[in-house]
Amino acid sequence: MIEDKNPQRTSLEEMGEFGLIDHLTQNFKLNQPSSLMGIGDDAAVLDFADKKTVVSTDMLVEGVHFDLSYMPLKHLGYKSVIVNLSDIYAMNAMATQVTVSIAVSNRFPLEALEEFYEGVATACKIYHVDLVGGDTTSSNKGMIISVTALGVADEKDIVYRKGSKANDLLVVSGDLGGAYLGLQVLEREKEVFKVNPNSQPDLEPYSYIVERQLKPEARKDVVELLKKLEVKPTSMIDISDGLSSEILHLCKQGEVGCNLFEDQIPLDPTVISTAEEFKMDSTMIALGGGEDYELLFSIDQEDYPKIKANPNFTVIGHMTEKAEGAHLVTRAKTKISLTAQGWNSFSG
Ligand SMILES: [Mg+2]
Repeated sequence: MIEDKNPQRTSLEEMGEFGLIDHLTQNFKLNQPSSLMGIGDDAAVLDFADKKTVVSTDMLVEGVHFDLSYMPLKHLGYKSVIVNLSDIYAMNAMATQVTVSIAVSNRFPLEALEEFYEGVATACKIYHVDLVGGDTTSSNKGMIISVTALGVADEKDIVYRKGSKANDLLVVSGDLGGAYLGLQVLEREKEVFKVNPNSQPDLEPYSYIVERQLKPEARKDVVELLKKLEVKPTSMIDISDGLSSEILHLCKQGEVGCNLFEDQIPLDPTVISTAEEFKMDSTMIALGGGEDYELLFSIDQEDYPKIKANPNFTVIGHMTEKAEGAHLVTRAKTKISLTAQGWNSFSG
């Protein structure tokens, strides 16, 4: 599906390990005042003064987390950084630095890695974070990416998964289910392409959801907005695995239950129409799909007036006493148990 318009190939052996890292990172500049030393010494040196440091790390494996037949390397570089930044924002912190390490087999030419690092550079620029370290090495098969993100916050501002109490409102940013359905569209086109390599997929009607899959954004803006609105969530998590599983994390950590209202789950019209086309249930997709990288948080009811008119936020439910359990309240007003996969239709 991805046409190689400029098939230049420089083998990685020609570069040598040291030449390779220098080459790939030569255009990265340090912008954060906390980055005292980045790439170019044995270790980076950072100074967060009196702030707390927040650290998160993630590993992405070809064939498990991404498929290069429809994921352009530039997008992959971008997304690898974004998914890590999302975890920093989920702590109500600001991301400041990343390290990026990749292992690739010799089927990847230098130009492929350049493309990957272009995506990394774009993410760093947009989210105002510095690349301060990383490594490149060889793998026997496929590509493996490891990104670590660092961020800062005042101790009093940090929000954990733990902290919800009964009657807190459950709020989500943006809309859900798009990334999963975007993946379904790309998988379908891949199958079509296998049968007919001359086919030109028309992805235009699906551009929103395909972009949600290939080029997701992290909700830095939500953290900034919450600060401006003077709302400190009582708990928060980012939606990487699906709404249902993230809600269960907040419930478990906070020792609370929850009522989630099906008719309040925010869905883009493209998600609704594409779900119909695939004969899938859009609620199930929002609950179990994942990779939306929206923020899910609970707030004290007193803070409701501050967020209620804001188009970035949707109140989707409320926390309850732990003994009540975690439930989805359907459009038909029946209550069903939430499970990590979505819902459990066999228990009430
Ligand atoms: Mg997370």
